[in-house]
Amino acid sequence: MSTFSAAMVAARDQAQALVRDLSATEPVLFADFPSGEGCTWCDCPVTAPDTVPCGGCTRPATTVLRLYRAGEQADVWPVCDSHLGDARRVIAIYVASTAPG
Ligand SMILES: [Zn+2]
Ligand SMILES: [Zn+2]
Repeated sequence: MSTFSAAMVAARDQAQALVRDLSATEPVLFADFPSGEGCTWCDCPVTAPDTVPCGGCTRPATTVLRLYRAGEQADVWPVCDSHLGDARRVIAIYVASTAPG
């Protein structure tokens, strides 16, 4: 059983806050827990929730895509390995189609 400290979780929060700041100038797509691995933000042992279904099929999601854009809550897309590429393309089109200007 893994244990992790409040400091590790704070590092995750800080990394997310940094990405939120970066997204003020351009959209940032972040892949959390790639392929079911651990936290991408820092070295804490937080892992992907295993009860979240993929947005494209009935399999459990292994990666959580988070899209950060200025002034908005992050959009979250849980996807399985086989839908990760599709999801990235769809999100890129979505971002381009909804970009101001
Ligand atoms: Zn972490
Ligand atoms: Zn899927």
